[in-house]
Amino acid sequence: MQEFDVVIIGSGPGGYVSAIRSAQLGFKTAIIEKYAVLGGTCLNVGCIPSKALLDSSEHYYNAVHTFQEHGISIGKPKVDLEQMIARKSGVVSNLNAGVSYLMKKNKITSFNGLGSFDGPKTIKVTKADGSSEIISGKNIIIATGSKPTVLPFIPVDKKRIITSTEALKLTEIPKHLIVIGAGVIGAELGSVYARLGSKVSFVEFADSMIPTMDKTMGKELQKAVAKLGAEFYLSHKVSSAENKGKEVVVKATNANGEEVEIKGDYCLVCIGRRPYTDGLKLEAAGLATDERGRIAVDEHTLQTKVPGIYAIGDVVRGAMLAHKAEEEGVFVAEIIAGQKPHINYNLIPGVVYTWPEVASVGKTEQELKTAGIAYKEGSFPFKALGRAIASMDVDGLVKVLADAHTDEILGVHIIGARAADMIAEAVVAMEYRASAEDVARMSHAHPTYTEAMKEACLAATSKRAIHS
Ligand SMILES: Cc1cc2nc3c(=O)[nH]c(=O)nc-3n(C[C@H](O)[C@H](O)[C@H](O)COP(=O)(O)OP(=O)(O)OC[C@H]3O[C@@H](n4cnc5c(N)ncnc54)[C@H](O)[C@@H]3O)c2cc1C
Repeated sequence: MQEFDVVIIGSGPGGYVSAIRSAQLGFKTAIIEKYAVLGGTCLNVGCIPSKALLDSSEHYYNAVHTFQEHGISIGKPKVDLEQMIARKSGVVSNLNAGVSYLMKKNKITSFNGLGSFDGPKTIKVTKADGSSEIISGKNIIIATGSKPTVLPFIPVDKKRIITSTEALKLTEIPKHLIVIGAGVIGAELGSVYARLGSKVSFVEFADSMIPTMDKTMGKELQKAVAKLGAEFYLSHKVSSAENKGKEVVVKATNANGEEVEIKGDYCLVCIGRRPYTDGLKLEAAGLATDERGRIAVDEHTLQTKVPGIYAIGDVVRGAMLAHKAEEEGVFVAEIIAGQKPHINYNLIPGVVYTWPEVASVGKTEQELKTAGIAYKEGSFPFKALGRAIASMDVDGLVKVLADAHTDEILGVHIIGARAADMIAEAVVAMEYRASAEDVARMSHAHPTYTEAMKEACLAATSKRAIHS
């Protein structure tokens, strides 16, 4: 039996990053992945392929809608969906190879097969051909991630009623795509097909898009997505979805209790993700999941109730985000090495890669109100920003929330071009507990989108934005 210091189950951003950090710390490390390729949800059917399609569809949209104004004539652009999907697959394969390279470079042993507990220190790896072997780990890290949530009254057939995984490899552009759930994944994939010409209808239980983010963001994003021709059924509870051959019929109840019926040719179900532990045989290690299917861990160590077994990423509590999983992967390796790492969960940014992009960190206005924290708010619109006007990306704003007494920045919410990259400045500022005035007094290159951050901080600190 092969013996390791650290055995990691799952090769997503949590698992493979944890493997690299464990190897860097001198541990003999193994990683187990049931699929033939490494990288998990994020690389294979999540972050990366969705961003590849978002980029391609954005290029197409701009070719149709903005090139002419920029003075570029190219005739009538046409979508080659097969090529678009093939390019996306190429990006994924490229990165799969990159992760495999990193495993070899760091002398991490990879096992391809389903990992299941055989005891608290032993894992059985069952390969695709049915053969199996048992390996042991002084420490075991569960990084098995998540799968799309399904509901019994929405029968996902993966043909017409699909999840995000199928939406990343469609062979035709839907005429009418019904998206159940206008959260992050629904908003992103709905945008892809709306840009490619589909009519898109969002059906959402909450009263806004991206309902877990600051309310202003949802309102502004809805305005932007509506410009793509999308329609919204907000505050609607879906009661059924039926594949009728070439048509899908979705029924939902609105806030007045009235039933509406929406007909389309595809229905994309994006109602969230559930922690994934199928086949893991947790009970053989003395573990179980909680009522939401998650593995419970100690807040300070991410160790489960069984000494030497840890869990990270989507399979534990907290935001289901790749960078959160990565931080936890590094954290656990360092805990095993006896170090004292720290993760500031308040400063894990959340991003929606629509156009305009949305990015947030820290507290929302609603959270501050609920917590009774007195705050000041400062906003700056992109339409007043030279850089945004030059590129014709004038939708959106930066909203800064600062403590009313100390001026410390408590939350930053951005919707606008390049918000995903801009949020890093807010994370750094907040990690060092900067005041709005600190950021407002720093020089920001002109003309850049980041000037909107400076201006919003000026507005928050003392209502003295320069350009609005
Ligand atoms: C469409 C989409 C877009 C997304 N976009 C973003 C984004 O832009 N930014 C972002 O931060 N997050 C995004 N996410 C979320 C992100 O993908 C997840 O938060 C992240 O992948 C979680 O990482 P993880 O390591 O916990 O698990 P995963 O990435 O889910 O990896 C778990 C791995 O474990 C393997 N596994 C499971 N059980 C076993 C077993 N018993 N034996 C062996 N292997 C096993 C699985 O096959 C999988 O490869 C997106 C998700 C989706 C679906």
